[in-house]
Amino acid sequence: MPVTRRMFLSTSASALALGLGPARAFAQPAAAAAPPATSFVELRRGVGMFLGSGGTIGYLVNGAGAAAIDSQFANTAAIAVTGLRQRAPQGIEMLLNTHHHGDHTGGNQVFRGAVKRIVAHANCLEWHRKTAAAAKSEAQTSFADTTFSGEWKTSFGDETIQARYYGAGHTSGDAVYHFEKADVVHMGDLLFNRAHPNIDRPAGASVSNWIVVLDKVARAHGNDTIFIAGHGKDNAVRCGKAEVTHFRGYLAACMDTAKKAVAAGTSKDDLLTTTALPGFEDTIALNARLTAGFVLGVCFDELTEKK
Ligand SMILES: [Zn+2]
Repeated sequence: MPVTRRMFLSTSASALALGLGPARAFAQPAAAAAPPATSFVELRRGVGMFLGSGGTIGYLVNGAGAAAIDSQFANTAAIAVTGLRQRAPQGIEMLLNTHHHGDHTGGNQVFRGAVKRIVAHANCLEWHRKTAAAAKSEAQTSFADTTFSGEWKTSFGDETIQARYYGAGHTSGDAVYHFEKADVVHMGDLLFNRAHPNIDRPAGASVSNWIVVLDKVARAHGNDTIFIAGHGKDNAVRCGKAEVTHFRGYLAACMDTAKKAVAAGTSKDDLLTTTALPGFEDTIALNARLTAGFVLGVCFDELTEKK
């Protein structure tokens, strides 16, 4: 996909969003801020993605109305809701959350008034409630009202949406949503395309199981499946199975590097200064925190944790 100025701007916005909590994003004075750069990108059979600030929003529009996956932050969620209502006069039926992070759920409250239900994995809701309680932001937060633990499926117009839970990865509450007929899969933050991932160990993340999750996802889908990544280098969030496999290889290489470092007695501090991983030098840092060193540090903690 060619990189346009608009896409570059929204890449910068999403990179910022990864590092800033919703409170900071909301704190921007409205008069001074330019309207955020956003775009709707159609993929296949009524399914598309909305790019703005934060994790990629997936959407479906058909004769029954619209459905959305993830809500970014309040400012871009408002643009997404307006655009989806224009495309679907029957209204927006539901919002699905891939996981609880603020750059994927910060716009839930904007969607709340427009949708009949908000769906998430049970662990996602639990983390969402805990993190909102810790931030004392419960009153400004809209939570899922419909949860599942294993699989969940719903018919919507002539499409079927299936949710699957593969176990811990980026957090312990990441759902993968499949628009079956369009054959488009929203990976949420289980897929970072050519970018060092955020890994939320305090919220139950597991790099070793994330590798297993990606193996299962790759086996469950065909070569024609379109995968939507939560984040990607140059906003390249439309992916194929090759990108899923590439990211699986990246995580496996990180674990391998950390294992060798632990065996050699290398300190975690030394690992944290790593700037690139051999074989994956084209992987970028979306913000100052999410470096190769950060990922290796998380792997180090996972390998050396007291069970
Ligand atoms: Zn996330």
